Amino acid sequence: ATRVRIAPSPTGEPHVGTAYIALFNYLFAKKMGGEFILRIEDTDAQRSTPEFEQKVLDALKWCGLTWSEGPDVGGPYGPYRQSERKDIYRPYVDRIVAGGHGFHCFCTPERLTAMREAQRASGKPPKYDGHCLGLSAEEVGTRLAAGEPNVVRMKIPTEGVCKFTDGVYGEVEIPWDAVDMQVLLKADGMPTYHMANVVDDHMMKITHVARGEEWLSSVPKHILLYQYLDLEPPVFMHLSLMRNADKSKLSKRKNPTSISYYSALGYMPEALMNFLGLFFVQIGEGEELMSMDELTGKFDPDNLSKAGAIFDVQKLDWLNGRWLREKLTPEEFIARVLDWASENGRLTEGLKLAQSRISKLGELPQLAGFMLASDVGLTPDSFARLKTSPAETLEILTTVQTDLEKILEWNVATIEEELRAMSERMGKKLRVVTPPLFVAVSGSSRSLPVFDSMALLGRSVVRQRLKVAAA
Ligand code: ATP
Ligand code: GLU
Repeated sequence: ATRVRIAPSPTGEPHVGTAYIALFNYLFAKKMGGEFILRIEDTDAQRSTPEFEQKVLDALKWCGLTWSEGPDVGGPYGPYRQSERKDIYRPYVDRIVAGGHGFHCFCTPERLTAMREAQRASGKPPKYDGHCLGLSAEEVGTRLAAGEPNVVRMKIPTEGVCKFTDGVYGEVEIPWDAVDMQVLLKADGMPTYHMANVVDDHMMKITHVARGEEWLSSVPKHILLYQYLDLEPPVFMHLSLMRNADKSKLSKRKNPTSISYYSALGYMPEALMNFLGLFFVQIGEGEELMSMDELTGKFDPDNLSKAGAIFDVQKLDWLNGRWLREKLTPEEFIARVLDWASENGRLTEGLKLAQSRISKLGELPQLAGFMLASDVGLTPDSFARLKTSPAETLEILTTVQTDLEKILEWNVATIEEELRAMSERMGKKLRVVTPPLFVAVSGSSRSLPVFDSMALLGRSVVRQRLKVAAA
Protein backbone atom coordinates (compact mmCIF):
# COMPACT_ATOMS: atom_id res chain seq x y z
CA ALA A 1 0.00 0.00 0.00
CA THR A 2 1.12 3.54 -0.70
CA ARG A 3 2.52 5.33 2.34
CA VAL A 4 3.77 8.89 2.20
CA ARG A 5 4.82 11.39 4.83
CA ILE A 6 5.46 14.99 5.68
CA ALA A 7 8.54 15.25 7.87
CA PRO A 8 8.80 18.78 9.23
CA SER A 9 11.63 20.01 11.43
CA PRO A 10 10.15 22.10 14.25
CA THR A 11 12.76 24.84 14.00
CA GLY A 12 10.69 27.88 13.09
CA GLU A 13 7.33 29.32 12.20
CA PRO A 14 5.46 26.77 10.04
CA HIS A 15 6.25 27.65 6.42
CA VAL A 16 3.79 27.75 3.50
CA GLY A 17 6.39 25.55 1.78
CA THR A 18 5.65 22.86 4.34
CA ALA A 19 1.92 23.14 3.58
CA TYR A 20 2.71 22.90 -0.14
CA ILE A 21 4.76 19.70 0.28
CA ALA A 22 2.26 18.29 2.78
CA LEU A 23 -0.62 18.96 0.37
CA PHE A 24 1.17 17.09 -2.41
CA ASN A 25 1.68 14.09 -0.16
CA TYR A 26 -1.88 14.28 1.14
CA LEU A 27 -3.33 14.34 -2.39
CA PHE A 28 -0.98 11.55 -3.42
CA ALA A 29 -2.17 9.35 -0.55
CA LYS A 30 -5.82 10.14 -1.28
CA LYS A 31 -5.42 9.45 -4.97
CA MET A 32 -3.73 6.10 -4.31
CA GLY A 33 -5.96 5.13 -1.42
CA GLY A 34 -2.87 5.11 0.80
CA GLU A 35 -1.77 6.61 4.10
CA PHE A 36 -0.42 10.08 4.81
CA ILE A 37 1.66 10.22 7.97
CA LEU A 38 3.43 12.92 9.94
CA ARG A 39 6.89 12.54 11.42
CA ILE A 40 8.70 15.18 13.44
CA GLU A 41 12.36 15.49 12.49
CA ASP A 42 13.87 17.08 15.56
CA THR A 43 17.39 15.66 15.53
CA ASP A 44 18.69 19.23 15.67
CA ALA A 45 18.16 19.62 19.40
CA GLN A 46 19.55 23.15 19.42
CA ARG A 47 16.95 24.54 17.03
CA SER A 48 13.92 22.30 17.62
CA THR A 49 11.35 23.30 20.24
CA PRO A 50 8.08 21.75 21.49
CA GLU A 51 6.37 25.10 20.75
CA PHE A 52 7.33 24.99 17.09
CA GLU A 53 6.26 21.35 16.93
CA GLN A 54 2.82 22.28 18.28
CA LYS A 55 2.64 25.12 15.77
CA VAL A 56 3.42 22.79 12.86
CA LEU A 57 0.68 20.38 13.94
CA ASP A 58 -1.81 23.22 14.42
CA ALA A 59 -0.90 24.87 11.12
CA LEU A 60 -1.29 21.66 9.11
CA LYS A 61 -4.59 20.91 10.84
CA TRP A 62 -5.76 24.42 10.05
CA CYS A 63 -4.97 23.65 6.42
CA GLY A 64 -7.26 20.63 6.64
CA LEU A 65 -4.42 18.18 6.06
CA THR A 66 -5.01 15.31 8.46
CA TRP A 67 -2.68 12.38 9.02
CA SER A 68 -3.46 8.84 10.09
CA GLU A 69 -0.22 8.35 12.05
CA GLY A 70 1.83 10.91 13.93
CA PRO A 71 3.17 12.01 17.31
CA ASP A 72 -0.27 13.19 18.42
CA VAL A 73 -2.34 10.24 17.17
CA GLY A 74 0.21 7.43 17.48
CA GLY A 75 0.26 4.52 15.05
CA PRO A 76 1.93 1.15 14.47
CA TYR A 77 5.39 2.49 13.62
CA GLY A 78 5.92 5.00 16.41
CA PRO A 79 7.28 6.93 18.09
CA TYR A 80 6.87 9.52 15.34
CA ARG A 81 9.27 12.02 16.88
CA GLN A 82 12.92 11.37 16.06
CA SER A 83 14.23 12.65 19.39
CA GLU A 84 12.37 9.71 20.99
CA ARG A 85 13.96 7.20 18.59
CA LYS A 86 17.62 7.80 19.45
CA ASP A 87 18.24 4.16 20.45
CA ILE A 88 16.64 2.86 17.28
CA TYR A 89 19.26 4.40 14.98
CA ARG A 90 22.39 3.16 16.72
CA PRO A 91 22.28 -0.45 15.44
CA TYR A 92 21.87 0.81 11.88
CA VAL A 93 24.94 3.01 12.25
CA ASP A 94 26.85 0.05 13.74
CA ARG A 95 25.82 -2.10 10.77
CA ILE A 96 27.20 0.47 8.35
CA VAL A 97 30.51 0.68 10.22
CA ALA A 98 30.75 -3.11 10.60
CA GLY A 99 30.15 -3.49 6.87
CA GLY A 100 33.12 -1.22 6.18
CA HIS A 101 30.88 1.54 4.80
CA GLY A 102 31.31 4.01 7.63
CA PHE A 103 34.20 5.22 9.78
CA HIS A 104 34.85 7.05 13.01
CA CYS A 105 36.15 10.55 12.57
CA PHE A 106 38.03 12.28 15.39
CA CYS A 107 38.69 15.57 13.63
CA THR A 108 38.24 18.55 15.91
CA PRO A 109 35.86 21.36 14.98
CA GLU A 110 38.95 23.61 14.70
CA ARG A 111 40.56 21.30 12.15
CA LEU A 112 37.34 21.08 10.14
CA THR A 113 36.88 24.84 10.13
CA ALA A 114 40.46 25.39 8.96
CA MET A 115 40.03 22.72 6.27
CA ARG A 116 36.83 24.34 4.97
CA GLU A 117 38.37 27.80 4.96
CA ALA A 118 41.33 26.56 2.95
CA GLN A 119 38.96 24.85 0.48
CA ARG A 120 36.85 27.97 0.09
CA ALA A 121 39.97 30.11 -0.36
CA SER A 122 41.04 27.92 -3.27
CA GLY A 123 37.55 28.11 -4.78
CA LYS A 124 36.46 24.57 -3.96
CA PRO A 125 33.17 23.70 -2.25
CA PRO A 126 33.80 22.57 1.32
CA LYS A 127 33.95 18.80 1.68
CA TYR A 128 35.47 16.43 4.22
CA ASP A 129 39.01 15.58 3.10
CA GLY A 130 39.12 11.98 4.33
CA HIS A 131 41.62 12.67 7.09
CA CYS A 132 40.35 9.85 9.37
CA LEU A 133 39.48 7.46 6.55
CA GLY A 134 42.76 5.57 6.79
CA LEU A 135 43.03 5.14 10.57
CA SER A 136 43.87 1.56 11.55
CA ALA A 137 41.27 -0.49 13.41
CA GLU A 138 43.72 -0.60 16.27
CA GLU A 139 44.10 3.16 16.52
CA VAL A 140 40.34 3.66 16.28
CA GLY A 141 39.83 1.11 19.05
CA THR A 142 42.30 2.83 21.33
CA ARG A 143 40.88 6.27 20.74
CA LEU A 144 37.30 5.08 21.25
CA ALA A 145 38.31 3.29 24.45
CA ALA A 146 39.92 6.52 25.65
CA GLY A 147 36.59 8.22 25.15
CA GLU A 148 37.82 10.62 22.50
CA PRO A 149 34.92 12.61 20.97
CA ASN A 150 34.08 11.33 17.52
CA VAL A 151 31.42 11.21 14.83
CA VAL A 152 30.60 8.45 12.36
CA ARG A 153 30.81 9.36 8.69
CA MET A 154 29.71 7.44 5.63
CA LYS A 155 32.13 6.39 2.91
CA ILE A 156 31.50 7.68 -0.60
CA PRO A 157 32.73 6.09 -3.86
CA THR A 158 35.81 7.91 -5.12
CA GLU A 159 34.81 7.89 -8.77
CA GLY A 160 31.88 7.57 -11.13
CA VAL A 161 28.41 9.01 -10.98
CA CYS A 162 25.29 8.23 -9.01
CA LYS A 163 22.40 7.64 -11.42
CA PHE A 164 18.83 7.50 -10.26
CA THR A 165 15.32 8.14 -11.49
CA ASP A 166 13.36 10.89 -9.84
CA GLY A 167 9.58 10.89 -10.19
CA VAL A 168 9.63 14.51 -11.28
CA TYR A 169 13.10 15.16 -12.68
CA GLY A 170 13.47 11.85 -14.53
CA GLU A 171 17.00 10.51 -14.98
CA VAL A 172 19.43 12.33 -12.70
CA GLU A 173 23.21 11.95 -12.60
CA ILE A 174 25.32 13.34 -9.78
CA PRO A 175 29.07 12.68 -9.72
CA TRP A 176 30.22 11.01 -6.50
CA ASP A 177 32.94 13.58 -6.37
CA ALA A 178 30.26 16.16 -5.50
CA VAL A 179 29.03 14.14 -2.53
CA ASP A 180 30.41 14.72 0.96
CA MET A 181 31.34 12.00 3.47
CA GLN A 182 28.26 12.82 5.45
CA VAL A 183 28.24 12.62 9.24
CA LEU A 184 25.71 9.94 10.22
CA LEU A 185 26.07 9.97 13.98
CA LYS A 186 26.98 13.12 15.87
CA ALA A 187 29.38 13.24 18.81
CA ASP A 188 26.44 13.33 21.24
CA GLY A 189 25.05 10.07 19.84
CA MET A 190 22.22 11.73 17.90
CA PRO A 191 21.87 10.76 14.25
CA THR A 192 21.94 13.44 11.57
CA TYR A 193 18.92 14.19 9.39
CA HIS A 194 20.22 11.88 6.65
CA MET A 195 20.66 8.84 8.86
CA ALA A 196 17.41 9.23 10.77
CA ASN A 197 15.43 10.05 7.63
CA VAL A 198 16.56 6.89 5.81
CA VAL A 199 16.05 4.60 8.81
CA ASP A 200 12.62 6.05 9.53
CA ASP A 201 11.40 5.98 5.95
CA HIS A 202 12.37 2.31 5.92
CA MET A 203 10.88 1.44 9.31
CA MET A 204 7.71 3.42 8.66
CA LYS A 205 7.32 1.63 5.33
CA ILE A 206 7.28 4.81 3.29
CA THR A 207 6.84 3.97 -0.39
CA HIS A 208 7.21 7.44 -1.93
CA VAL A 209 9.30 10.33 -0.68
CA ALA A 210 7.95 13.61 -2.05
CA ARG A 211 9.80 16.67 -0.79
CA GLY A 212 11.32 19.97 -1.86
CA GLU A 213 13.85 20.19 -4.67
CA GLU A 214 16.50 21.32 -2.20
CA TRP A 215 16.89 17.66 -1.19
CA LEU A 216 17.61 16.37 -4.70
CA SER A 217 21.37 16.63 -4.14
CA SER A 218 21.04 14.47 -1.00
CA VAL A 219 19.57 11.52 -2.89
CA PRO A 220 22.99 9.94 -3.66
CA LYS A 221 23.74 9.78 0.08
CA HIS A 222 20.34 8.31 0.79
CA ILE A 223 20.55 5.73 -1.99
CA LEU A 224 23.97 4.70 -0.72
CA LEU A 225 22.67 4.35 2.83
CA TYR A 226 19.84 2.08 1.65
CA GLN A 227 22.42 0.05 -0.27
CA TYR A 228 24.81 -0.18 2.72
CA LEU A 229 21.91 -1.42 4.85
CA ASP A 230 20.66 -3.75 2.15
CA LEU A 231 17.28 -2.06 2.03
CA GLU A 232 14.98 -1.11 -0.83
CA PRO A 233 14.87 2.68 -1.34
CA PRO A 234 11.50 4.41 -1.78
CA VAL A 235 10.54 6.25 -4.96
CA PHE A 236 11.86 9.83 -4.83
CA MET A 237 9.93 12.82 -6.12
CA HIS A 238 11.39 16.30 -5.80
CA LEU A 239 8.99 19.18 -6.16
CA SER A 240 10.05 22.54 -7.49
CA LEU A 241 10.29 25.11 -4.75
CA MET A 242 7.91 27.99 -4.56
CA ARG A 243 9.27 31.27 -5.83
CA ASN A 244 8.65 34.97 -5.48
CA ALA A 245 7.19 36.79 -8.47
CA ASP A 246 10.78 37.74 -9.46
CA LYS A 247 11.61 33.99 -9.60
CA SER A 248 13.92 34.11 -6.58
CA LYS A 249 13.35 31.49 -3.87
CA LEU A 250 10.40 32.40 -1.73
CA SER A 251 11.76 34.11 1.31
CA LYS A 252 10.24 35.93 4.22
CA ARG A 253 12.18 39.02 3.30
CA LYS A 254 10.08 39.34 0.14
CA ASN A 255 6.82 37.56 0.89
CA PRO A 256 5.27 36.48 4.16
CA THR A 257 6.03 32.77 4.37
CA SER A 258 4.39 31.66 7.61
CA ILE A 259 1.10 29.85 7.44
CA SER A 260 0.06 31.86 10.51
CA TYR A 261 0.33 35.09 8.50
CA TYR A 262 -2.28 33.84 6.05
CA SER A 263 -4.60 32.64 8.79
CA ALA A 264 -4.18 35.91 10.72
CA LEU A 265 -5.17 37.89 7.64
CA GLY A 266 -8.31 35.86 7.20
CA TYR A 267 -7.52 33.70 4.24
CA MET A 268 -9.67 30.61 4.13
CA PRO A 269 -7.63 27.43 4.49
CA GLU A 270 -9.68 25.96 1.63
CA ALA A 271 -8.56 28.83 -0.59
CA LEU A 272 -4.91 28.43 0.41
CA MET A 273 -5.08 24.68 -0.35
CA ASN A 274 -6.85 25.46 -3.63
CA PHE A 275 -4.09 27.92 -4.52
CA LEU A 276 -1.26 25.50 -3.64
CA GLY A 277 -3.08 22.55 -5.22
CA LEU A 278 -3.21 24.30 -8.60
CA PHE A 279 0.54 23.71 -8.85
CA PHE A 280 -0.17 19.98 -9.02
CA VAL A 281 -3.04 19.78 -11.52
CA GLN A 282 -3.59 20.59 -15.16
CA ILE A 283 -6.83 22.47 -15.65
CA GLY A 284 -8.44 24.72 -18.20
CA GLU A 285 -9.33 28.35 -17.77
CA GLY A 286 -12.38 28.88 -15.60
CA GLU A 287 -11.78 25.69 -13.59
CA GLU A 288 -9.59 27.29 -10.93
CA LEU A 289 -12.00 27.13 -8.00
CA MET A 290 -11.43 23.64 -6.58
CA SER A 291 -12.18 21.81 -3.38
CA MET A 292 -9.83 19.21 -1.92
CA ASP A 293 -11.92 16.44 -3.52
CA GLU A 294 -11.81 18.12 -6.89
CA LEU A 295 -8.04 18.58 -6.54
CA THR A 296 -7.70 14.89 -5.71
CA GLY A 297 -9.74 14.02 -8.79
CA LYS A 298 -7.49 16.00 -11.11
CA PHE A 299 -4.24 15.19 -9.30
CA ASP A 300 -1.72 13.54 -11.59
CA PRO A 301 1.76 12.99 -10.11
CA ASP A 302 3.07 11.82 -13.50
CA ASN A 303 2.33 15.15 -15.06
CA LEU A 304 4.03 17.70 -12.87
CA SER A 305 5.74 20.83 -13.94
CA LYS A 306 9.39 21.56 -13.16
CA ALA A 307 8.78 25.26 -13.65
CA GLY A 308 9.02 27.04 -10.34
CA ALA A 309 5.74 27.41 -8.53
CA ILE A 310 5.23 31.17 -8.33
CA PHE A 311 3.67 32.32 -5.09
CA ASP A 312 1.42 34.94 -6.63
CA VAL A 313 -0.36 36.68 -3.76
CA GLN A 314 -2.77 38.41 -6.14
CA LYS A 315 -3.94 35.07 -7.42
CA LEU A 316 -4.35 33.85 -3.86
CA ASP A 317 -6.42 36.96 -3.07
CA TRP A 318 -8.55 36.41 -6.13
CA LEU A 319 -9.19 32.76 -5.21
CA ASN A 320 -9.86 33.63 -1.57
CA GLY A 321 -12.39 36.26 -2.62
CA ARG A 322 -14.14 33.70 -4.75
CA TRP A 323 -14.23 31.21 -1.89
CA LEU A 324 -15.72 33.83 0.42
CA ARG A 325 -18.34 34.88 -2.11
CA GLU A 326 -19.21 31.63 -3.79
CA LYS A 327 -18.63 28.83 -1.35
CA LEU A 328 -20.04 30.12 1.92
CA THR A 329 -23.66 30.74 2.88
CA PRO A 330 -24.18 34.03 4.75
CA GLU A 331 -24.46 32.04 8.00
CA GLU A 332 -21.23 30.16 7.32
CA PHE A 333 -19.55 33.41 6.41
CA ILE A 334 -20.55 35.01 9.71
CA ALA A 335 -19.38 32.00 11.68
CA ARG A 336 -16.01 32.18 9.92
CA VAL A 337 -15.63 35.87 10.67
CA LEU A 338 -16.36 35.37 14.36
CA ASP A 339 -13.97 32.43 14.62
CA TRP A 340 -11.27 34.35 12.85
CA ALA A 341 -11.68 37.48 14.98
CA SER A 342 -11.35 35.51 18.18
CA GLU A 343 -8.42 33.33 17.08
CA ASN A 344 -5.44 33.38 19.45
CA GLY A 345 -7.25 35.65 21.90
CA ARG A 346 -7.00 38.52 19.48
CA LEU A 347 -10.53 39.75 20.16
CA THR A 348 -10.79 39.21 23.91
CA GLU A 349 -7.24 40.26 24.75
CA GLY A 350 -7.48 43.21 22.36
CA LEU A 351 -10.73 44.35 23.99
CA LYS A 352 -9.19 44.10 27.45
CA LEU A 353 -6.40 46.39 26.33
CA ALA A 354 -8.96 48.83 24.93
CA GLN A 355 -11.32 48.96 27.94
CA SER A 356 -9.44 51.63 29.87
CA ARG A 357 -8.80 53.74 26.80
CA ILE A 358 -12.26 54.55 25.47
CA SER A 359 -15.26 56.59 26.62
CA LYS A 360 -17.77 54.77 24.41
CA LEU A 361 -17.78 51.50 22.49
CA GLY A 362 -18.06 53.30 19.19
CA GLU A 363 -14.42 54.32 19.56
CA LEU A 364 -13.30 50.71 19.36
CA PRO A 365 -12.95 50.41 15.58
CA GLN A 366 -10.73 53.52 15.50
CA LEU A 367 -8.62 52.45 18.45
CA ALA A 368 -8.37 48.70 17.98
CA GLY A 369 -9.31 48.12 14.36
CA PHE A 370 -5.65 47.58 13.48
CA MET A 371 -5.75 44.31 15.42
CA LEU A 372 -7.91 42.84 12.65
CA ALA A 373 -6.88 44.87 9.62
CA SER A 374 -4.84 43.26 6.85
CA ASP A 375 -3.22 46.62 6.19
CA VAL A 376 -3.05 49.68 8.44
CA GLY A 377 -3.24 52.15 5.58
CA LEU A 378 0.02 54.03 6.07
CA THR A 379 0.41 57.17 3.98
CA PRO A 380 3.44 59.42 3.52
CA ASP A 381 1.91 61.61 6.27
CA SER A 382 1.57 58.83 8.81
CA PHE A 383 4.98 59.49 10.35
CA ALA A 384 4.94 63.27 9.87
CA ARG A 385 3.84 64.21 13.36
CA LEU A 386 6.50 62.20 15.18
CA LYS A 387 9.29 64.02 16.99
CA THR A 388 11.92 61.94 15.22
CA SER A 389 13.15 63.13 11.84
CA PRO A 390 12.27 61.00 8.78
CA ALA A 391 15.85 59.68 8.68
CA GLU A 392 15.78 58.79 12.37
CA THR A 393 12.34 57.17 12.04
CA LEU A 394 13.63 55.01 9.22
CA GLU A 395 16.74 54.09 11.16
CA ILE A 396 14.61 53.01 14.10
CA LEU A 397 12.25 50.96 11.94
CA THR A 398 15.00 49.14 10.09
CA THR A 399 16.85 48.39 13.32
CA VAL A 400 13.65 47.06 14.88
CA GLN A 401 13.15 44.86 11.82
CA THR A 402 16.47 43.08 12.25
CA ASP A 403 16.28 43.00 16.03
CA LEU A 404 12.88 41.36 16.21
CA GLU A 405 14.24 38.46 14.17
CA LYS A 406 16.53 37.64 17.11
CA ILE A 407 13.61 36.88 19.40
CA LEU A 408 13.17 33.15 19.86
CA GLU A 409 9.87 32.99 21.70
CA TRP A 410 7.48 35.73 20.70
CA ASN A 411 5.66 37.28 23.67
CA VAL A 412 5.22 40.62 25.44
CA ALA A 413 8.20 40.10 27.74
CA THR A 414 10.65 39.04 25.04
CA ILE A 415 9.54 41.83 22.71
CA GLU A 416 9.97 44.45 25.41
CA GLU A 417 13.31 43.04 26.47
CA GLU A 418 14.66 43.01 22.92
CA LEU A 419 13.49 46.55 22.19
CA ARG A 420 14.92 47.88 25.45
CA ALA A 421 18.28 46.34 24.64
CA MET A 422 18.05 47.73 21.13
CA SER A 423 17.28 51.30 22.21
CA GLU A 424 20.18 51.15 24.63
CA ARG A 425 22.48 50.02 21.85
CA MET A 426 21.21 52.85 19.68
CA GLY A 427 21.84 55.29 22.52
CA LYS A 428 18.18 56.33 22.53
CA LYS A 429 15.44 56.34 25.12
CA LEU A 430 12.80 53.63 24.74
CA ARG A 431 10.13 56.34 24.52
CA VAL A 432 11.90 57.75 21.45
CA VAL A 433 12.01 54.36 19.78
CA THR A 434 8.41 53.30 20.38
CA PRO A 435 6.39 56.04 18.60
CA PRO A 436 7.54 55.07 15.08
CA LEU A 437 6.76 51.50 16.05
CA PHE A 438 3.24 52.46 17.16
CA VAL A 439 2.59 54.02 13.79
CA ALA A 440 4.10 51.14 11.81
CA VAL A 441 2.12 48.51 13.71
CA SER A 442 -1.19 50.30 14.23
CA GLY A 443 -1.24 53.11 11.67
CA SER A 444 -1.64 55.70 14.42
CA SER A 445 0.33 57.04 17.35
CA ARG A 446 -2.78 56.81 19.52
CA SER A 447 -3.49 53.12 19.92
CA LEU A 448 -3.23 50.15 22.24
CA PRO A 449 -0.01 49.35 24.14
CA VAL A 450 2.41 48.49 21.42
CA PHE A 451 4.23 45.50 22.92
CA ASP A 452 0.98 43.77 23.83
CA SER A 453 -0.44 44.49 20.39
CA MET A 454 2.66 43.11 18.70
CA ALA A 455 2.49 39.95 20.79
CA LEU A 456 -1.17 39.43 19.86
CA LEU A 457 -0.70 40.23 16.19
CA GLY A 458 2.04 37.64 15.91
CA ARG A 459 5.51 37.78 14.51
CA SER A 460 4.69 37.37 10.84
CA VAL A 461 2.05 40.12 10.75
CA VAL A 462 4.37 42.51 12.60
CA ARG A 463 7.21 41.64 10.26
CA GLN A 464 5.06 42.50 7.25
CA ARG A 465 3.84 45.79 8.76
CA LEU A 466 7.39 46.88 9.55
CA LYS A 467 8.44 45.97 6.05
CA VAL A 468 5.66 48.12 4.59
CA ALA A 469 6.47 50.98 6.98
CA ALA A 470 10.19 50.95 6.20
CA ALA A 471 9.71 50.68 2.45
P1 ATP B 1 13.40 31.79 4.58
O1 ATP B 1 14.32 31.86 3.42
O2 ATP B 1 12.12 32.52 4.38
O3 ATP B 1 14.05 32.08 5.90
P2 ATP B 1 13.85 29.05 4.91
O4 ATP B 1 14.42 28.57 3.62
O5 ATP B 1 14.75 29.36 6.04
O6 ATP B 1 12.90 30.30 4.64
P3 ATP B 1 13.17 26.74 6.23
O7 ATP B 1 12.87 27.03 7.64
O8 ATP B 1 14.52 26.30 5.80
O9 ATP B 1 12.80 28.04 5.38
O10 ATP B 1 12.13 25.75 5.63
C1 ATP B 1 11.03 25.28 6.30
C2 ATP B 1 10.34 24.27 5.42
O11 ATP B 1 9.72 24.93 4.32
C3 ATP B 1 11.26 23.22 4.83
O12 ATP B 1 10.62 21.97 4.92
C4 ATP B 1 11.42 23.61 3.40
O13 ATP B 1 11.51 22.47 2.57
C5 ATP B 1 10.16 24.39 3.12
N1 ATP B 1 10.42 25.47 2.21
C6 ATP B 1 11.19 26.55 2.45
N2 ATP B 1 11.21 27.36 1.39
C7 ATP B 1 10.42 26.77 0.46
C8 ATP B 1 10.02 27.11 -0.86
N3 ATP B 1 10.43 28.22 -1.44
N4 ATP B 1 9.20 26.27 -1.52
C9 ATP B 1 8.77 25.14 -0.93
N5 ATP B 1 9.12 24.76 0.28
C10 ATP B 1 9.93 25.56 0.98
N1 GLU C 1 13.01 17.42 7.84
C1 GLU C 1 13.17 17.72 6.44
C2 GLU C 1 12.60 19.11 6.15
O1 GLU C 1 12.22 19.78 7.06
C3 GLU C 1 12.46 16.66 5.64
C4 GLU C 1 13.03 16.43 4.28
C5 GLU C 1 12.48 15.13 3.71
O2 GLU C 1 11.27 15.09 3.47
O3 GLU C 1 13.23 14.18 3.55
O4 GLU C 1 12.55 19.61 5.06
